Amino acid sequence: MFDVDKALDLWRSEALRRALRIQSVVLDASREFLRRQGFIEILPVIISPITDPLTDHRVRGEVECYGFKYQITKSMIFHKQIALFTHPRIFCFSPNVRIESIERRNSGKHLIEFVQLDLEVREAKRSEVISLGEELFRFIVIAVREKCREDLEFFGRKLDLPESPFPQISYREAEAKFGPDFEEKLSCSQKGPFWIIDFPMEIREFYDREDENRPGILIDMDLVYPEGFGEALSGGEREYIFQRICYRIQQKGIQLEAFSPYLEIARRGLFPSAGFGIGIERLTRYLCGLRQIELTRLFAKLPGEFSL
Ligand code: ASP
Ligand code: MG
Repeated sequence: MFDVDKALDLWRSEALRRALRIQSVVLDASREFLRRQGFIEILPVIISPITDPLTDHRVRGEVECYGFKYQITKSMIFHKQIALFTHPRIFCFSPNVRIESIERRNSGKHLIEFVQLDLEVREAKRSEVISLGEELFRFIVIAVREKCREDLEFFGRKLDLPESPFPQISYREAEAKFGPDFEEKLSCSQKGPFWIIDFPMEIREFYDREDENRPGILIDMDLVYPEGFGEALSGGEREYIFQRICYRIQQKGIQLEAFSPYLEIARRGLFPSAGFGIGIERLTRYLCGLRQIELTRLFAKLPGEFSL
């Protein structure tokens, strides 16, 4: 059950205090950077009839209100696309709940409740949001180096500022070089963050856009931290044409009805767009050079553990 003494030790610890200070600079810097780039911050959606299926279309985290069924947000991907009717460049600090398997308890990377900085840009191509992601990351590193020198020293962390453009490797290339579980190996072998691009359709969600010229390959990407810290963000261009979305949902073996409100909107025409979501706790973990994700937020919830 819940261990109050252990929790108090953590809440009073210098490591948590310093990590949260760095995180607060990350939040400020992200907002400042994105506002300068013409973005509008939108408020998060916590429950909705639709959420990210995340290769697992079993319904999890359901709540019933007034006889209607809502799901707890796994990601705001569909709301981001829809938000583009209102404003062409949007971002949100979006709380997500993903019930990860217990085997991920000690990964150092998985929390079942986390926050991602989620953004979407109307009419954008992947290359545009890749550049944006690099500039955002560099802006954050500069701010943290400038404002959190003592905190970084406490963690013994020397933060390098990576040059843009970051290296890119395609999923197939990475797999051929490093075998099927390449992310960890690649991450350990790199000195700076890098992109994995062109994921195969089978292993991603239906909303990342398939390349018309290369069937089965998606116009998407992950940013991966070096030194074994692993995945930072996922994103890509989106499917926005109604028939394409229906085809992709069905290919995943999902019933169209599960997404009916979204499909009704898509039938009337979504904008082409691209975007990504970057996990705030993982970013904090990388910046502090921490192996444990529990130190990157208050009330951290590890898979399989009871927590406040
Ligand atoms: N929906 C993705 C995720 O949560 C992020 C994105 O594609 O924008 O991993
Ligand atoms: Mg991802």
